[in-house]
Amino acid sequence: MSAKRIMSGMRPTGRLHLGHYFGALRNWIHFQSQYESFFSIVDWHALTTKFQNTREVQPHIWEIALDWLCVGIDADVATIYVQSAVPEIAELHLLLSMFTPHNWVEREPTLKDMVKMLDQDESAAKEKVTYGLLGYPVLMASDILTFRGELVPVGKDQESHLEFARDVARRFNNFYNVDYFPEPKPEFTTTPLLKGIDGQKMGKSFNNDIKIADTDDDTIAKVKKMITDRTRIAKSDPGHTDLCEVPWPMYQIFAGDPSLLASVKTDCESAAIGCVDCKVKLAGLINDYFRPMREKRRELAANPGKVREIVEEGNLKARKVARQTLKDVREIMGMVNWA
Ligand code: SF4
Repeated sequence: MSAKRIMSGMRPTGRLHLGHYFGALRNWIHFQSQYESFFSIVDWHALTTKFQNTREVQPHIWEIALDWLCVGIDADVATIYVQSAVPEIAELHLLLSMFTPHNWVEREPTLKDMVKMLDQDESAAKEKVTYGLLGYPVLMASDILTFRGELVPVGKDQESHLEFARDVARRFNNFYNVDYFPEPKPEFTTTPLLKGIDGQKMGKSFNNDIKIADTDDDTIAKVKKMITDRTRIAKSDPGHTDLCEVPWPMYQIFAGDPSLLASVKTDCESAAIGCVDCKVKLAGLINDYFRPMREKRRELAANPGKVREIVEEGNLKARKVARQTLKDVREIMGMVNWA
């Protein structure tokens, strides 16, 4: 295994959906055998926007752990841990915040998106922007730098998110005239476009997602609601795959065999198949794909002690690395390493 370290995390805000799987987890599974991997359930990040409902966060930690493990994140290879079990991350966040200029934080483009998420009304949203939320880019930098992560998996459009952590690492190194923190680089991932059942971007908060943990019946019911070709009114009308908003793009992901795609296209455009039947067929493909993962998830969920053990082992492994980083950082900064 390469000595390079890769770090990524997810906020525990609920069960994960197909967008998380194809957008991140599938790549993590690929990376875990190539790099020394640190995958964090970033519960403090969830508090930046969930500060009024903190009790919701804890159960979601276990849901995320189940989702990760059932899809194939391997705790024997990767380090799976919970952010709040590694207090050194918080200490580094504090130390880094001392020399991070506040205008760096304010110019973060993702902050504007998060403010919008809090409230559509801009002035009401501003009321909810806490000191913690404003500081989340520093916390994110700390998540990566605590593990001296060299690579962070991102899509092409997210490269700017990493700029901040790179700037902070560079500033630390320059300030203390060291070459301690690597400037984390993007490990680009390719992500198929995955729309929610309403044709918008798939997202839990939009209530348009299909969860990894959904049952076959849940999946069928959701797929049946997918927006298809809006110009096709009656079953006897020929359909247009290029106008089919959700099922057809999903077929590209799940069909596997090109001849299946060709037959769906022919059947759609000749009106040999109606949209309902076509969607039921698609739901079958999705269910076939996720069936082994869902079975594994059910087995793991029936053994919560085992899941806890896996996560706690990961916490210990993560903490060992984090302790060393903080010891080094304190020394570099000329601070006392208290016994
Ligand atoms: Fe889409 Fe299938 Fe309907 Fe064609 S038949 S518009 S591919 S759902």
